[in-house]
Amino acid sequence: MSRERIGARIQQWVRPEIRALHAYHVPPATGMIKLDAMENPYRWPEAMLEAWLLKLRDAAINRYPDPQAQAVKDGLRREMGVPAGQDILLGNGSDEIIQMLALLVMGRGRCVLAPEPGFVMYRMIATLTGLDYLGVPLDANFDLDTEAMLAAIQQHQPALIFLALPNNPTGNVFSVDRVRAVIEAAEGLVILDEAYTAFTDHDHLSFVQDYDNVLVMRTLSKVGLAGLRLGLLIGANDWLAEIEKIRLPYNINVLTQLSAEFALENFQVMRQQTALIRAERERLISELRGIDTLHVWPSEANFVLVRTPAGKARDVFEFLKQRNILIKCLDGAHVQLADCLRLTVGEPGDSDLLLAALRDALA
Ligand code: PMP
Repeated sequence: MSRERIGARIQQWVRPEIRALHAYHVPPATGMIKLDAMENPYRWPEAMLEAWLLKLRDAAINRYPDPQAQAVKDGLRREMGVPAGQDILLGNGSDEIIQMLALLVMGRGRCVLAPEPGFVMYRMIATLTGLDYLGVPLDANFDLDTEAMLAAIQQHQPALIFLALPNNPTGNVFSVDRVRAVIEAAEGLVILDEAYTAFTDHDHLSFVQDYDNVLVMRTLSKVGLAGLRLGLLIGANDWLAEIEKIRLPYNINVLTQLSAEFALENFQVMRQQTALIRAERERLISELRGIDTLHVWPSEANFVLVRTPAGKARDVFEFLKQRNILIKCLDGAHVQLADCLRLTVGEPGDSDLLLAALRDALA
């Protein structure tokens, strides 16, 4: 078997847009203080872990899972306050839902639009499903540039628009009147991605009742269940019934279903943890503002975006890595993110180590 022959076959058969892509990079993090991926740093209390393991004992892993995951949906409906008359569709993480949405609308000349800087998966999934992708720059305050958005919608008639509220990596929630203007101008579907809903008081769930082209996407990843991979899409049954045709029948496995059911029965623990993270975010922001060479943006999510002095972001990132702290370096990812770093809010002890390392790196 020769690598050259494999290379030739890849050249011949793999779609050019896939060959041009880079796989989503997840840096190794064993033994590091992990502040790069917006995870909840807290685990469950011991008694809760025991109760969970007891529940898992009954898992019928010899059987296929419930294809509808009805008990999980019931728990989500209750804990997230899904309005009566609106339905839920589940994905293996909201990433999988983004992929289902792309498969729903893909076709020659069809386009996905999202404001930028934003979540990179919208572009990646659009590209790999053969959709055109259009990133419209945010304004200087990282709010929607309504004029540019409306012009792009008018010109390109996107099949799908993604608005992350709060936005990753900028941490802000776009002004509601601008969000409404985009929805009202769009002929296609507008997905309000509320991955970080646990960390803000802004809530757009009622938009699924106000508009016939809006679906709301959420996830359990940021509240403490990133390892489960469970995302949800909320909206009118007519839309979700179409997407159901794309969903693979058993995409939510038995262990995820049982664990999510259990977590939703004990959701007060996740609420307490996210409240701790929100409080810690405010402390971290105020400490970061004490480092006078850093520009610190406000945040309604569980991460904080900062700008280092020009040309310093990568050095600071590497310096922190030497101290066993992993953050996200965004320098080079987008023009508006030059010299920027994204810091996930961890436990107070993590923040203290992070702050000390930042002060040393910038001294
Ligand atoms: N949407 C946004 C805005 C995100 O930042 C992320 C994760 N970084 C996701 C969706 C995907 O989350 P998951 O697949 O874990 O549900």
